[in-house]
Amino acid sequence: MPAQSFDQLRSAFRGELIQPIDAAYDSARKVYNGMIDKRPKLIARCVDVADVIAAVQYGRDNQLLTAIRGGGHNGAGLGTCDDGLVIDMSHIKGIRVDPTARTVRVEAGCVWGDVDHATHAFGMATPCGFISTTGVGGLTLGGGIGYLTRQYGLTIDNLLSVDMVLADGRFVTANPNENSDLFWAVRGGGGNFGVVTSFEFRLHPVSMVNFGPTFWPLEQAADVLRAYRKFIVDAPEYVNGFFAFLVVPPAPMFPEHLHLKTVCGIVWCCTGSAEQTEAATRPMRTVGQPLLDHVGPAPFPVVQSTFDGLFVPGLQWYWRADNFTELSDEAIARHVEHGSKIPTMLSTIHLYPLNGAAQRVGRNDTAYSFREALFCEVIVGVDPDPANAETITKWCKDYWEALHPHSAGGAYVNFMMDEGQDRIQAAFRDNYSRLAAIKKKYDPTNFFRVNQNIRP
Ligand SMILES: Cc1cc2nc3c(=O)[nH]c(=O)nc-3n(C[C@H](O)[C@H](O)[C@H](O)COP(=O)(O)OP(=O)(O)OC[C@H]3O[C@@H](n4cnc5c(N)ncnc54)[C@H](O)[C@@H]3O)c2cc1C
Repeated sequence: MPAQSFDQLRSAFRGELIQPIDAAYDSARKVYNGMIDKRPKLIARCVDVADVIAAVQYGRDNQLLTAIRGGGHNGAGLGTCDDGLVIDMSHIKGIRVDPTARTVRVEAGCVWGDVDHATHAFGMATPCGFISTTGVGGLTLGGGIGYLTRQYGLTIDNLLSVDMVLADGRFVTANPNENSDLFWAVRGGGGNFGVVTSFEFRLHPVSMVNFGPTFWPLEQAADVLRAYRKFIVDAPEYVNGFFAFLVVPPAPMFPEHLHLKTVCGIVWCCTGSAEQTEAATRPMRTVGQPLLDHVGPAPFPVVQSTFDGLFVPGLQWYWRADNFTELSDEAIARHVEHGSKIPTMLSTIHLYPLNGAAQRVGRNDTAYSFREALFCEVIVGVDPDPANAETITKWCKDYWEALHPHSAGGAYVNFMMDEGQDRIQAAFRDNYSRLAAIKKKYDPTNFFRVNQNIRP
């Protein structure tokens, strides 16, 4: 068969085909991380599954390096590539809620704000992340850690089924009954196995939540962390609160005397009633003398989008992450040392609690492996100014290196940069060889390799 020509693709394609000569090219090639500056040959902005099939066939016939772009939020820039093809899903955005079955079918170009909007109308939500602009595609396929993790598990723990286009252009469904090996692999294995065109998720009754921060001065950070490591183990699962070192933004919602001050804090999101939240979080919120303590009712979609205005697209972004099964006194000392040296206003470090529902899934039940972790630590260097790229990267690496010896090892593929094959294998541990076999079955030529790559 002769390779499909560009004209043949054009005649089969309903969406936009954007090339370097087109006016839309420079905005279409941008991804979230301002450090990433890649120039693909062609961006195939699909509008339906037929477009995805055509794009995959074109990429394969012409042996193009092919990236899949969902929300474009990947830190390492894995939603794009140089000199190749980008299959851009961002215009495939349908959502259908089934309120009776408590499920939602989400097309792959949606971001989490789209899903929250649709499901909140029915008083429901599915576990997602901490920002509403992140893509459903990448976040889900890597695992999905967020405000509802302790109570309802990772995003993949609520995934019921996916539709996919495979490397050979075939369209398949994967769920516990059909192509169950593939379904296991996509729950944590990233975009290695094909282009997911839609996701079906289980919904939970989440509507209003109790949300807000407690901030403490840096001098109390060690006491707060020591209290937090115990508190979060015993807290009811409707309590979610991630720990952070942060610089208080100069926003009207914070008292002026705290503006631009480096503090530590916990950001709460609790699905219990106001009274339950108050009683359950009181032991932590009364540690030391907080600088600020404000937890109140908020609709879940508002919570999900609270930080969107701070973390806008185009910022310089460098991050590193690790899993922790415990937080030793020595680890706490290193946190206080490096957390006190946050280099720019938007840089931050978060400890996301992973205990509760996410831990009740076995380490071999999904490709995502680190089920015994108590925390996922993510250190994020962020700044609008490219001149600060080196400073934020260095702070992040130094911090990570200081904490890594205290970690449980491994990694979380969604919080990785280009960190090499060892880190990828470490993320999947004994699941890696099974993933490699599934990769070999569904993508033997490694056509989908712009990702944290599992080699066939
Ligand atoms: C501001 C910000 C906040 C974040 N918050 C969280 C959080 O709270 N919790 C969390 O777990 N993670 C979070 N992340 C990390 C996020 O999960 C990853 O960066 C993820 O890769 C982003 O997915 P995306 O679709 O937006 O990215 P993209 O860059 O579009 O894609 C990322 C990867 O996923 C693959 N992919 C995307 N869509 C598809 C598809 N339809 N089919 C097959 N492969 C696909 C791509 O090939 C690529 O390898 C956050 C990231 C940012 C930048």
